[in-house]
Amino acid sequence: MATTGQSFYDETMKTNYHTHCNFCDGIADPETVVKTAIEKGFDVLGFSSHSPLEGEEWPLKADEVELYVQTIRDLALKYRDDILILAGMEKDFIVSEPVWPVRRWESVQLDYVIGSVHMVWSEKLGRLGTVDGPVDEMVELIEKGYGGNARRLVEDYYDTLALMVERETFDFVGHLDVIKKRNKVIGFLDESQPWYLEKVKTVLDVISRKGVPLEINTGGIFRGATDDLYPSQPILKECFKRGIPVVIGSDSHDPNHLDSGFDLAREKAKEAGYREHMVLDRSGWRSIKI
Ligand SMILES: [Zn+2]
Ligand SMILES: [Zn+2]
Repeated sequence: MATTGQSFYDETMKTNYHTHCNFCDGIADPETVVKTAIEKGFDVLGFSSHSPLEGEEWPLKADEVELYVQTIRDLALKYRDDILILAGMEKDFIVSEPVWPVRRWESVQLDYVIGSVHMVWSEKLGRLGTVDGPVDEMVELIEKGYGGNARRLVEDYYDTLALMVERETFDFVGHLDVIKKRNKVIGFLDESQPWYLEKVKTVLDVISRKGVPLEINTGGIFRGATDDLYPSQPILKECFKRGIPVVIGSDSHDPNHLDSGFDLAREKAKEAGYREHMVLDRSGWRSIKI
């Protein structure tokens, strides 16, 4: 049979690099996630457990990092005929520390790293506060941590994000505007205010200058927390203008959500102007058609 040499632009791949399992705050063991990914027809599944944080229960334990990676490697071997499985990590950037907080496991070889900010440093509280937690914690952070000045908190979050991109090395930025996660309930942020998009643009300029891809994350919308993807559509359009590549992920903590919102993510990416998204396989990161 004659082959015409299929262009990689014709290639389609089902991938997700932002997934959690029970090594951190996900509900399922890694093998269940793998089996579900195979059932759902994935070509590549990347595990991205939360990086260890001193004194926190929800991320990966520092002394379990090697076991985590080995478990993923064993599954990769066991299911190599069905799916490509990668061992990654979602690294938390903590602004009060000069570097990532727990480093003693960092000699472990990972396939990729997501850079995310979940916490900001509140001078008033004298501690970190999460912007990715329950509503009551967000209310406390705004009221007690920022004296009711939500704009200051939002600006702090984006300054922290920009610092992460400047300072650290990773493969793509996770859920850029996760700060809006509880906005639907609390209503502390009007995303249409000019100052807001201007602030976000300063971060996008850093991301663009550093050449780091950005995630289109479906986790907020399919769980009902947000009315738009991370990032919101006006931000995604600004990303496209700056030539920032995108990676689509669902941030699933339950394997049933491995591909939740993917059709919407592709639709929104195309609407913003994108024709390609980034995938990682044995040959490294590359762009393929959306
Ligand atoms: Zn995250
Ligand atoms: Zn995540």
